[in-house]
Amino acid sequence: MYDLVIIGAGPAGIALAAEARAVGHEPSSVLIIEKGIQHNWAIRQFYPAHKKTTANYKGHVAECEGLLCIKDMSKDETIRFFDDVIAHYNLNITYQVEAYDVEPVEDEDGRHFHVETSKGIFETRVLAVAIGVLGRPNKPKEYRLPPSLKDRLMFDITSRRIENEEVLVVGGGDTASEYVQYLFQQNNRVTLSYRQHEFKRLTGTNLTALMAMEQRGEVSILRGSNIDKVQDEGGRPHVHFKEEQYPARTFDTVVYALGGTTPVNFLHMLGIEFDSNRPKIDRHGETNVPGLFLVGDLTVSNTGGSIITAFNSAARAIKRIDKMMRVTQPSHSMV
Ligand SMILES: Cc1cc2nc3c(=O)[nH]c(=O)nc-3n(C[C@H](O)[C@H](O)[C@H](O)COP(=O)(O)OP(=O)(O)OC[C@H]3O[C@@H](n4cnc5c(N)ncnc54)[C@H](O)[C@@H]3O)c2cc1C
Repeated sequence: MYDLVIIGAGPAGIALAAEARAVGHEPSSVLIIEKGIQHNWAIRQFYPAHKKTTANYKGHVAECEGLLCIKDMSKDETIRFFDDVIAHYNLNITYQVEAYDVEPVEDEDGRHFHVETSKGIFETRVLAVAIGVLGRPNKPKEYRLPPSLKDRLMFDITSRRIENEEVLVVGGGDTASEYVQYLFQQNNRVTLSYRQHEFKRLTGTNLTALMAMEQRGEVSILRGSNIDKVQDEGGRPHVHFKEEQYPARTFDTVVYALGGTTPVNFLHMLGIEFDSNRPKIDRHGETNVPGLFLVGDLTVSNTGGSIITAFNSAARAIKRIDKMMRVTQPSHSMV
C-alpha cells in the first residue's frame, strides 16, 4: 500500500512527488506511474526540438508558490531540469505503466484506491491524477479527416520528421506559432490557417516572431480562414477553405495545433463530478471523491496551463495531501 500514487510524470506529477519528499515522506511511500518510457512524455512529443520553454507561457504569471520554479530555457534544458529534480529528491517512478481505471475501496482501514494499470493493480491511500491534456489533442469537429491521410494529418511534430515539405499549420495560439517557426527552420514551406483576423492569444515573443516571419515571406498567413473539407489527392491532403479568397490547395502535411482536451471519460470513470465541462475541485485540487486529487493542466481552464501553473497546483495540493499522508503507515505492495 502506497501513501501517495501519482498518475503521470509530467511537470505536475514530478512537482507533487518532490513536494512530498521535501516535507519528509520516504521515496518508497510515493510512487509515480508513467505510461511513457521516460518522464515528461508529452513535452518530449509536443515541444519542437529547438523550442524555448518560456516561464510565462500563454501569459500565465511566472510566480512560483512552491518548491520548483523555472526560468526561460531550451527544451533540452527543461528535460535536464526534471532529470535533476528526480535525482535530487530520489523520486520513485515506474515507466511504461498506463493507468486505465481506479476503484475506491472501503475496508476496516478506511478508504483507499485500487489503481488498475497495464502492469497490475497498485494500492494507495491518496491518489493524484496528473495526466495533463496533451495526450488528447483537439481535432476539428466541422469536417471529416480521411483515414487514408492518417500519416499526413498530424497533431504533434515529433512523430514523423517533416522536412522540405509544403506544410499547413492550423491554429492561432502559441503552439501554432512555435510550430511555424520550427517547421520553417526544418526547410519547409509553411502556411498558417487561423480562423480569426487578429492573433490576440499569442504571447509577445511568439507574436513578434510570427509577424517578422510574415514580413520576410517565410510564412504565408491565411487570416480569417476556415477549412471546409480535406480530401485525399494521391495520398496528400487537398484542403478546401470556406472563404473564396483562399483557393483549395494540396499540402504534403497538415499539422493541427488546436490544444488539448480534458480526458473527460477517464475522470468520469473515477467518479469525479463536473461543472460546465470542468472537473469540480477545491483550492487544493481535491475532487468530490475524498483523497482523489487533480494537479497540473487538468486543474486549469480550457485555454491551458503552463509548467509553473502545474508546479503551483502541486504546491497547493501537498498542503492537504501531507496531512492525509501523516495519518497513514507506509507498507508497499503490488498486487
Ligand atoms: C507545443 C507546446 C508548447 C508549450 N510551451 C510551454 C512553455 O514554453 N512554457 C510552459 O510553461 N508551458 C508550455 N506548454 C504547456 C506545458 O507543457 C503544460 O502546461 C504542462 O506540461 C502541463 O503539465 P502536466 O504535468 O499537467 O501534464 P503533461 O505535461 O501533459 O504530463 C502528463 C504526463 O502523464 C502521462 N500520462 C498521461 N496519461 C497517463 C496514464 N493514463 N497513465 C500513466 N501516465 C499517463 C503522460 O505521458 C505525461 O508524461 C506548452 C505546451 C505545448 C503543447
